[in-house]
Amino acid sequence: MDGILLLKSNMSDKGVVCLRAAMDKETKITVIGGGASGMTAAIFAARKGAKVTVLEQLPKVGRKILATGNGRCNFTNRNIDISKYHGKKAKFAYSVLSRFGFLDTISFFEDLGLHYTEEDGRIYPASLQASSVLDVLRYEMEHLGVEEVCDAKVDEIKKDGRGFLLRIKGKSPIICDKIIIATGGKANPGLGSKGSGYGLAKSLGHKIVEPFPSLVQIKLEYPYLKRMAGVRLTGRASVIKEGKLLREDIGEIQFTEYGVSGIPILQLSRQIGEHKEPDVNLVLNIDMFPYISKEDLLQLLIKRCNLRKDKPLDISFIGLINKKLINVILNESGITEVRIPCSRVSKEQLINIANVMKSWSFKIIGTKSWSEAQVTAGGVDVTDIDNKTLESKITQGLYFAGEIMDIDGDCGGYNLQWAWATGYSAGTNSGV
Ligand SMILES: Cc1cc2nc3c(=O)[nH]c(=O)nc-3n(C[C@H](O)[C@H](O)[C@H](O)COP(=O)(O)OP(=O)(O)OC[C@H]3O[C@@H](n4cnc5c(N)ncnc54)[C@H](O)[C@@H]3O)c2cc1C
Repeated sequence: MDGILLLKSNMSDKGVVCLRAAMDKETKITVIGGGASGMTAAIFAARKGAKVTVLEQLPKVGRKILATGNGRCNFTNRNIDISKYHGKKAKFAYSVLSRFGFLDTISFFEDLGLHYTEEDGRIYPASLQASSVLDVLRYEMEHLGVEEVCDAKVDEIKKDGRGFLLRIKGKSPIICDKIIIATGGKANPGLGSKGSGYGLAKSLGHKIVEPFPSLVQIKLEYPYLKRMAGVRLTGRASVIKEGKLLREDIGEIQFTEYGVSGIPILQLSRQIGEHKEPDVNLVLNIDMFPYISKEDLLQLLIKRCNLRKDKPLDISFIGLINKKLINVILNESGITEVRIPCSRVSKEQLINIANVMKSWSFKIIGTKSWSEAQVTAGGVDVTDIDNKTLESKITQGLYFAGEIMDIDGDCGGYNLQWAWATGYSAGTNSGV
């Protein structure tokens, strides 16, 4: 490609600057997608001396970053570990994260002027503003001369000799030496990523592992959900398939009209997408007292009943569990007369109640949709990507960064860590 004189059409066209002058030896890299991974890739490629352009389909870059961590951006986690990452070939993440781990993220952002604060290993900007993360990335891109072109949706990529030709909706085409596809997945399409990157990757020979929503709320079939909506409790949630435990997590669980939400629920949602075949019986089990054994809970219920012999059974549960749950739990335990005095309650009935509280079962009917999901499970099959450079093994000069690949992380800063780490590798290796 070097040395070819290129035609650039309309120089005034919304800031699309052209391309290539004769005998220009600088590597021209186009990053498709101005999200967390694309901006990081652009910074590292530019630090290597490449001339970098970021194409973003939205009017501004980094829109999703602003929504992360409820506007606070949980941008990494002290406990980065391969066990927090998933995908058909999850081990692929190991090599990437060992090249750019937690400390690398911290020092990358500290160099950009971003200090951090920590909550149980979750790392946030000291300002507690997601916009700080976006701002420092943008300032660094500007400082390095990275060109940012917004309202630029890449519709088509063609291999063009040793380089690439990119067709952009409503703009002149771009020709460049290398490209980094950082278009994200399908999660939360309102924030930009709608899955268009999969088509681009496919057109260059890549396979896609069927994407499905992850880190998303779970839908249940249960007759009392309306009554329970709004209740929060600290419990252990487990997903069980045909009697076999798939995954469990402890934390605050929230009941809603459609099912359940909360961090432990989001963590389990991947297992549901993974096992969603028809006729598979998936059950959500909730232990309302994860820190007490069943026997100790039973003793507690017996003691509470003995202390309130004349009181109705339902009243004896006030102060132990949320009021909205009392009748539901009693009904679930086979007790229809919830007003009987505690003195008339048998030990067997209390055992039934303790059993329900320790192992309350719900039929899972699915997860909420893409619009509620925080991340995409599935994506570009990593078998065809070099785990050191993130260059395609199929198309030379093509790199990938971020959520577009078939790797997704747990809730807690792991997905943004993946974005920074893949941005680093794709940027550094393409920039040389
Ligand atoms: C509500 C919410 C909260 C979250 N909170 C956290 C959190 O606190 N911590 C954490 O670690 N993770 C969090 N995540 C996940 C995390 O934000 C993502 O995993 C991460 O931002 C992915 O970065 P990315 O660069 O790969 O993709 P994206 O951020 O999705 O960026 C891709 C960009 O590419 C653009 N694009 C797409 N197609 C094209 C095209 N054809 N041409 C041009 N541009 C295109 C999109 O508009 C988008 O701007 C959250 C996600 C959501 C939705």
